[in-house]
Amino acid sequence: MTKKKMGLNTVCTHVGDVADKQFKGAVSPIYLSTSYAFEDVELKRYPRYFNTPNQEALSKKIAKLEHAEKAMIFGSGMAAISTAMFAFLKKGDHVVLQETLYGGTFNLVTQEFEKYGIEYSFTDGWEAKDFKKEIKKNTKVIYVETPSNPLLTITDLKKVVKLAKKHKLLTMIDNTFASPVNQNPIDLGIDIVIHSATKYLGGHSDILAGAVVGSKKHMDQIWNTAICYGGSLSDFTVWMLERSIKTLGLRVKAQNRNAKKMAQFLDSHKDISKVYYPGLKSHPGHEVAKAQMKGYGGMLSFELKKGIDPTKFRKKLKLIKPSMSLAGVESTVLSPTQTSHALLTPEARKKQGIKDGLIRFSVGIESPQDLMDDIEQAIKACKK
Ligand SMILES: *Cc1c(COP(=O)(O)O)cnc(C)c1O
Repeated sequence: MTKKKMGLNTVCTHVGDVADKQFKGAVSPIYLSTSYAFEDVELKRYPRYFNTPNQEALSKKIAKLEHAEKAMIFGSGMAAISTAMFAFLKKGDHVVLQETLYGGTFNLVTQEFEKYGIEYSFTDGWEAKDFKKEIKKNTKVIYVETPSNPLLTITDLKKVVKLAKKHKLLTMIDNTFASPVNQNPIDLGIDIVIHSATKYLGGHSDILAGAVVGSKKHMDQIWNTAICYGGSLSDFTVWMLERSIKTLGLRVKAQNRNAKKMAQFLDSHKDISKVYYPGLKSHPGHEVAKAQMKGYGGMLSFELKKGIDPTKFRKKLKLIKPSMSLAGVESTVLSPTQTSHALLTPEARKKQGIKDGLIRFSVGIESPQDLMDDIEQAIKACKK
């Protein structure tokens, strides 16, 4: 291999393959052993130690994609998030978290942290100054999510890193919405990057997995906690994820293009009152997104004009399916009020700007005209 930096799609396709030395097959063999020899081996392998041949290989691919020294793959995004947090937080420590968090992360913090004596504060907004306000003497970690769910708010990562460095705090980001194709927070100085691999890394709505990347030093600390919590991923699913990532660059770039088209189409549509997409100039986070992201992603949200019932609209869609999850090759929609943000009080939703009629749109790889036609016919059907 030459020293020249490898292109994204080459990393996706080739880095971290398990060589099939026996039969020279084109794809990685799957090693399902949970039992490996302990004598005359350089490494004691065991699936819960995150070091089977397939786990190691996929970790290399994900680390390379995120420009990190090391990666670990978990059984779910929440296993990745909880393990990473518990690795760095102990009794009496304090963590500052972004207000607009993924619902599962919000639940983890509000349900579990008190049991362990870990203190927390949520920001009142998503800008660096909002994080600054919450820092206390015992703060150890800043936890960010950008773009966030469902309004795609953008947090300036360089500013957050500067703030964290000043106070000697560890920074963690949930980079799920961007995917490594659109945003590499390690390059901006973030310490720990987390993914729900269930979303873009998997990309076909058939894998539950998570990933964490960071420096060797930080990842060694996470490993120590991880082997206690036991959240590793089975090698069969590891192999599926490796296969999925081969097309990550192609998929996400197609989703970026489609989402931009959809955002423009919806933005100029007379029956849509508002569109939230960082790729639109009208989005408050547009300039920051332009500076820190390589693409604006495949997620957007919009509000229908008064008089068009959002539930009826969703039900009238034929091609675009309702879905709790996101980031698959197929386009899907959901109502945050009924799903991802159902547990928040109406006041909390209002404060975050989440209206009852809001629709979150995960844009897939379909031909864009078909998606536009589907939305158009659903709006028409609502007016009848
Ligand atoms: C889905 C999701 C998670 C949780 O991941 P699981 O794989 O469902 O455990 C965390 N963060 C974000 C932004 C997500 O979309």
